[in-house]
Amino acid sequence: MTNTTTPDKLDLELLGQQMHVLIGELYPICRSITGDGVRETLRRLQHFLPLTIHEVPTGTPVFDWTVPREWNIRDAYVKNSRGERVIDFQKSNLHVLNYSIPIHKKMSLEELKPHLFTLPDHPDWIPYRTSYYKENWGFCLSDKQFLKLSEDEYEVSIEASLKDGDLTYGEMLVPGRTTDEILISCHVCHPSLANDNLSGVVVACFLARELSQLPRRFSYRFLFIPGTIGAITWLSINEPRVSQIKHGLVLAGVGDAGPLSYKRSRRGDTEIDRAAVYVLRQLGPDARVLDFSPYGYDERQYCSPGFNLAVGRLSRTPHGTFPEYHTSADNLSFVHPHSLGESFSACLSIFSVLERNGTYLNTNPKCEPQLSARGLYRAVGGSTDGGASELAMLWVLNLSDGGHTLLDIAERAQISFDSVHRAAIVLEEHGLLRECFKQSPAVTSEAPV
Ligand SMILES: [Zn+2]
Repeated sequence: MTNTTTPDKLDLELLGQQMHVLIGELYPICRSITGDGVRETLRRLQHFLPLTIHEVPTGTPVFDWTVPREWNIRDAYVKNSRGERVIDFQKSNLHVLNYSIPIHKKMSLEELKPHLFTLPDHPDWIPYRTSYYKENWGFCLSDKQFLKLSEDEYEVSIEASLKDGDLTYGEMLVPGRTTDEILISCHVCHPSLANDNLSGVVVACFLARELSQLPRRFSYRFLFIPGTIGAITWLSINEPRVSQIKHGLVLAGVGDAGPLSYKRSRRGDTEIDRAAVYVLRQLGPDARVLDFSPYGYDERQYCSPGFNLAVGRLSRTPHGTFPEYHTSADNLSFVHPHSLGESFSACLSIFSVLERNGTYLNTNPKCEPQLSARGLYRAVGGSTDGGASELAMLWVLNLSDGGHTLLDIAERAQISFDSVHRAAIVLEEHGLLRECFKQSPAVTSEAPV
């Protein structure tokens, strides 16, 4: 990890294409917050990663929630009186209200209508709807399809089961030199939706594989969990180890064509907030930084006041602000290899800053040390940088009083983090700096875990 903006030895376009292929493989699976769809997804990820699959039984109390019954579905349809499937789960798993209770009944269009969901504003798209915590059944269909339904006797069938079982999630720890952890969390509970869930899943998967190959100070914990209930369950079961999480990133919606956006943690100015903002600014003026709000993905749970972790969220176009969100139009053509590659690279860059963001002490703080006597004047980075490396050294020496990280110095001096880091390494090699080991607290005193 040497570069903060682009890990240049990586072929991001090729990796983006490979991630897109993996999205294509996972896309047809009918996932939900529990059930075989999540298991099948995690098993496929096990081809890439030594992922541990955990099962938590139905009925397990998890803070104010309870692990729900497990939902599985085999088939579902609405047939007209000629026996034709006018709505067919086999054509798209979005056609079924996710978590529908089983039903097999004949009924009129009038009876069926309250159970049908459409998007009149986008008449070709199928909406994605769920009913996890209220027993219901239903079908989602395009408005065009809906308008073709005539008075008839329909056979309605949802071959699903909602029974005691388990909540399934995947976890992988990539151990580093320290037990301080960086958490990477993505949701794995949506059926055939590409950007919303699968983009985060594949970027996390490729990050785990890449980070396993890199030297690292931090341990990286990857969670592939059902949204909301999965994060609540993990936090409930793992409460004693939460204090090891020093930084974290929720990955959601990282494959669309929009610019990258970073949502700050609840604390707002943690080290990962600053590292992410720094990296996104390097990427250009389009990248956006959003303040925390208690709405969104699993950052809501990690940033709940009882945990208050330094966890932000990386997305591209924020959820709910693009019409394709939670519809059949969030499909394979809505996510792009280039975007996936760029999101992956931005994550690596953020982690690279965190890995190298040391705090140092100037061992010769009374007046400037004589750099030329040590061969440091015009000795770093060649003589073609117009003195930039000397300036970086002077800034690092001046602010290395144990109270400034390298990122603090880069921001104040308006010098790239890479230059500041390089200067620190050279100065340390010459005995002019000594690293102090400052750990950022994982939780505030406001709400100890
Ligand atoms: Zn969603």
